[in-house]
Amino acid sequence: MLPISFEFFPTKTPEGAANQRDVRKALYAKKPEFCSVTFGAGGSTQVGTFSMTQEILDEGVCAASHFSCVGATKASVRDQLVTLKTMGVKRLVALRGDLPSGYGAGGEFHYAIDLVTFIRAEFGEDFHIEVAAYPEVHPQARNAQADLQAFVDKVNAGAHSAITQYFFNTDAYFRFVDDVYKMGIDVPVVPGIMPITNSAQLMRFSDMCGAEIPRWIRLRLQGFGDDAASIKAFGHDVIVDMVDQLKNGGVPGMHFYTMNKSAPVLAICDEVGL
Ligand code: FAD
Repeated sequence: MLPISFEFFPTKTPEGAANQRDVRKALYAKKPEFCSVTFGAGGSTQVGTFSMTQEILDEGVCAASHFSCVGATKASVRDQLVTLKTMGVKRLVALRGDLPSGYGAGGEFHYAIDLVTFIRAEFGEDFHIEVAAYPEVHPQARNAQADLQAFVDKVNAGAHSAITQYFFNTDAYFRFVDDVYKMGIDVPVVPGIMPITNSAQLMRFSDMCGAEIPRWIRLRLQGFGDDAASIKAFGHDVIVDMVDQLKNGGVPGMHFYTMNKSAPVLAICDEVGL
């Protein structure tokens, strides 16, 4: 069975947390390899990230905490990693992250590679380290080749696997994997899958993170206007086709950006037999 994993973001209210428990419970039916919890820019959601991570562990599921380092000091990163280790966390998604606008670029970490190197030096093999990959090129990269090299260097610093930014062009993913394998890495590069359920939100996220929405998808979504049912039905079909192509192409797993909702992800998994 192809390993799958689910990503959540921390909730802000007790009602949100209760709702999230139901969402996770529904998704656990798919026996995920792990569930991950995002970490807000500049560590802004650290308490929420750690408490949701603890809940997932308490539910008997492997939990991965995302962890971003930009702007942080070595002492604070060390303390937080000790906390995660004490909680029983064995998996991290190690990121540079983005500083909230208005913050200077201080701190002792500048790129994700600095965090991966630090974790390996201080914690050895205590954590399985995931890193982020960008098949369509990170939006702040100097150029595409430099971005590929930065990814390879980050993996070589001690990452065990990678999860990609979401994409809707499978060619970009397969080309990326071919290229980085030729450059000498051999860790799994798992595609990140974003269900399409809300076009305004998807356009906003994609503009920010540099994920390309192909013209035909963008135009079809725009054409549906406020017709949420048609957007969901179209989005489901598009993602099912993409997931099928990825599965047939031999991907090592699938990581779903759940957006804290179970139904769209379950519908995709059910249809493609995940
Ligand atoms: P890096 O790998 O450090 O790369 C950042 C940029 O710097 C790239 O353009 C790269 O080409 C360049 N670069 C790298 N090394 C060098 C170098 N030595 N010299 C010059 N340039 C260099 N954000 C959050 O805030 N919280 C989350 O929980 C979160 N989870 C994510 C999960 C996944 C799977 C993905 C794909 C992204 C996630 N992000 C999250 C977004 C991420 O934080 C941003 O994309 C951020 O801008 C880059 O983080 P990174 O770890 O990929 O950075």
